[in-house]
Amino acid sequence: MKIAVLAGDGIGPEIVAEATKVLVALDEHFELEPALVGGAAYEAHGHPLPDATLNLARAADAVLFGAVGDWKFDKLERALRPEQAILGLRKNLGLFANFRPAICYEQLTHASSLKPELVAGLDILIVRELTGDIYFGQPRGRRAAPDGPFAGQPEAFDTMRYSRPEIERIAHVAFQAARKRSRKLTSVDKANVLETFQFWKDVVTEVHAQYPDVELEHMYVDNAAMQLVRAPKKFDVVVTGNMFGDILSDEASMLTGSIGMLPSASLNERGFGLYEPSHGSAPDIAGKGIANPLATILSAAMMLRYSLGKAEQADRIDAAVQRVLARGLRTADIWSEGTSRVGTVQMGDAVVAELR
Ligand code: NAD
Repeated sequence: MKIAVLAGDGIGPEIVAEATKVLVALDEHFELEPALVGGAAYEAHGHPLPDATLNLARAADAVLFGAVGDWKFDKLERALRPEQAILGLRKNLGLFANFRPAICYEQLTHASSLKPELVAGLDILIVRELTGDIYFGQPRGRRAAPDGPFAGQPEAFDTMRYSRPEIERIAHVAFQAARKRSRKLTSVDKANVLETFQFWKDVVTEVHAQYPDVELEHMYVDNAAMQLVRAPKKFDVVVTGNMFGDILSDEASMLTGSIGMLPSASLNERGFGLYEPSHGSAPDIAGKGIANPLATILSAAMMLRYSLGKAEQADRIDAAVQRVLARGLRTADIWSEGTSRVGTVQMGDAVVAELR
């Protein structure tokens, strides 16, 4: 099986190196093919998502992705910025469903910003729609305000939109995920203010008719943001749009101790997926050898489970990570008194040692 390995920028190459080490240790003879993406690709080829990289991703059975972005590219025109690579991959590969589990490992309960009793045993799955919403809606741009109290003044605008098929397909994915868990789905919207999200709510309610065994609740996004820090264990599977999902999944990540622990999967209709940590390229710690590689290692496990049909190997990786944490090994982001601080490479080595 061929895996496209797109490490990217910042800590991307450091964390992806550890995840590939773990994949190699499984002895499954995966074909791991690297390619440049993001700022690294822009510097080498003048584009954050060169054709060769996109073609490699298309021809692979799955994509393992690190992270892209660096502040030094902030001045580039938007189309050439590193982050466009991830948007381009999502669009070209049809990746519309983003799975972001937020699991609080028993050993890390104290690393959470919330009281241990609020997060102990936490296991939420946020399903974020990836291809629609205000991130892609047209028209967008800058102009002189055509009306209102600031008519004639410069303004910027984006367009929020969702089509029925887009909402239907993410709703089906979310209901099916809820079926495999505790049969409870929360759909997050802003139907009280936004027409787009009244439509979202109506369509999700219609799709619910096909899943009578799943309990559906609707929640406004402001309330969801509050409930996530008040009583996060009330949630099981959460489905929401692109922007709300972006924000809520980062909020949920902190409940688990560190964004450095959280994997994610972005899937298309055929189950093909791109797997990446939920965090960015962390330029502030790049090159220091202290980044937590576990989110990327756990993303590789998700890849084995969802795209490569190797659930048993995925379980082995999950178990190895748990044992490493139980041994008290911690990267700086999850370190606490009484545990042993290790770097990126040592953490990867420890997971490989547990696997063996
Ligand atoms: P970030 O997630 O990169 O970092 C936020 C904070 O978390 C930083 O303090 C960082 O040091 C820390 N952190 C992140 N990952 C960590 C890890 N594995 N181990 C330890 N600490 C970790 O977010 P940001 O600083 O807002 O963005 C930095 C760059 O990443 C920007 O260019 C942004 O556009 C990009 N970004 C890319 C992606 C992606 O590639 N999918 C996602 C989000 C942000």
